[in-house]
Amino acid sequence: EAQKETRGFQTEAKQLLHLMIHSLYSNREIFLRELVSNASDAADKLRFAAVKDDSLYEGDSELKVRVEVDKDANTITISDNGIGMTRDEVIENLGTIAKSGTAAFVQSLTGDEKKDAQLIGQFGVGFYSSFIVADKVVVRTRKAGVPADQGVRWECDGEAEFVIENIEKPARGTSIELHLKSSASEFADDWRLRSIIKKYSDHIAIPVVMQMPQAVGEDEAAQEPQEEVVNTATAMWTRSRSDVSDEEYKEFYKHVSHDFADPLTWSHNRVEGNLDYTSLLYIPAKAPFDLYNRDGARGLKLYVQRTFIMDDAEQFLPLYLRFVKGVVDSNDLSLNVSREILQKDPNIDSMRSALTKRVLDMISKLAKNEPERYAEFWKEFGQVIKEGPAEDFANREKIAKLLRFATTHTNTAAQDQSLDDYLSRMKEGQEKIYYIAAENHNTAKNSPHLEVFRKKGIEVLLLSDRVDEWLMSHLMDYDGKALQDIGKGELDLGEMDSEEDKQAQEKVAESLKPLIERVQKVLGEKVAEVRITHRLTESPACVVVPEHEMGAQMRRLLESAGQ
Ligand code: ADP
Ligand code: MG
Repeated sequence: EAQKETRGFQTEAKQLLHLMIHSLYSNREIFLRELVSNASDAADKLRFAAVKDDSLYEGDSELKVRVEVDKDANTITISDNGIGMTRDEVIENLGTIAKSGTAAFVQSLTGDEKKDAQLIGQFGVGFYSSFIVADKVVVRTRKAGVPADQGVRWECDGEAEFVIENIEKPARGTSIELHLKSSASEFADDWRLRSIIKKYSDHIAIPVVMQMPQAVGEDEAAQEPQEEVVNTATAMWTRSRSDVSDEEYKEFYKHVSHDFADPLTWSHNRVEGNLDYTSLLYIPAKAPFDLYNRDGARGLKLYVQRTFIMDDAEQFLPLYLRFVKGVVDSNDLSLNVSREILQKDPNIDSMRSALTKRVLDMISKLAKNEPERYAEFWKEFGQVIKEGPAEDFANREKIAKLLRFATTHTNTAAQDQSLDDYLSRMKEGQEKIYYIAAENHNTAKNSPHLEVFRKKGIEVLLLSDRVDEWLMSHLMDYDGKALQDIGKGELDLGEMDSEEDKQAQEKVAESLKPLIERVQKVLGEKVAEVRITHRLTESPACVVVPEHEMGAQMRRLLESAGQ
């Protein structure tokens, strides 16, 4: 049954499509990159499925992408012999514009077209970028291993609806036919398409082929049309670093991450020896919408001897590095490896610590050599890095070096001071690193606890992120100096008080004894203890949390988590 039906997109779809077309208008040629990227993913998926069942190749295991152009009809067709899609998969994958995080995305739209355009560039639109250049798109596809009469045809004009029906499709895989807008007919040009493929899709591991241009003056009918490969067609991470240009690294990032923006930095390494593997790891420029969803998809693309195995292999990096994208290609794992096996394999643990170290080194290098770009990194991912010391005790010192704080030294909310900066400014005789944690920067900055520190010129870290107390409780010390919450316990500035100060303090204490006793009586059970403090210079009194109790911020954090 051909079952022709018309379906609508979700309500946001039209708005989203319109925005996307608008925002990507100056960079229209990327539609081809997205479609070739999808074809390559489809080839990867077929190769993986064929490891268990090679009948899926149906006698044709030379996977490739073909790009054809018809100038007269003003169409471009991109076809592959990859995994293909069933009818349900077409509806699922192409009938839902911008799947993961759509809700978050739509919520973050401001209505200001300019701002929204930047957002959408970050979000990635994949297949739908076809509509930047086309006013009608026809997809024909047939899943590997199913009969030829179970092909599917999907058609959409980029408005609110699409039409889907079953067709006969002998050739496995997917073809995407773009009917170009008259304003985009410049793309119906063989040489233009070749140069776009070279520019954006050179790194694609399977051949991208086009028909060879016909020699001028020869009898066209006499010639068999011949194909030629337009791209380099080797898995990019297998090439040596010196052979790969920055542009190629950037384009490859967009392919693996499905991101539209350039990455912040990357690290490409081959490890030989006990375990043999290649890794290509990227730090994105922008945090994804679901960064704080600890259950969200994360991880690397796993290959075994250049065969794609799985997306989102999360076993290779700790949770606090969940923003890292990239590829790991192992020569030792079995092609039959599964998530369950990955969880148990002790070799994975050693790969994980090596890859973690790689990422931390890459970030440290950025911090050292490019402080301005590091500041951008910190703005996007600093909060997640702060989860590090709790999760990864072994790398505590390394992570601590990456931390950036607001402090009383700069007295602004910007988190731009390192612990090393702090150490370099410590007072003679100062033994601890002092901090105060509050629910926001202003409260921290104006805390009465700071009075004596300001007076003595001792720097205090001003913490106001939700994770900060959690961070401090796991960090505990840095470079042999304890981290001390100045809102907690007895304050002993030790060597920093002069002999006269100490004598004066004792005298005051003696004379105030009756007052203290009275206050204690009045407050009764409401407090644990009333004592004289020398930490205030302006305010008359303040509340202090005992040394080993939870800080106010931590208490709020746990309360909000329902504990
Ligand atoms: P993404 O590639 O980020 O998943 P896209 O919008 O580019 O998003 O594609 C959406 C989905 O449609 C893909 O995840 C894939 O499941 C399916 N798809 C797209 N193109 C093809 C293709 N050529 N062959 C098989 N499936 C495809
Ligand atoms: Mg895609």
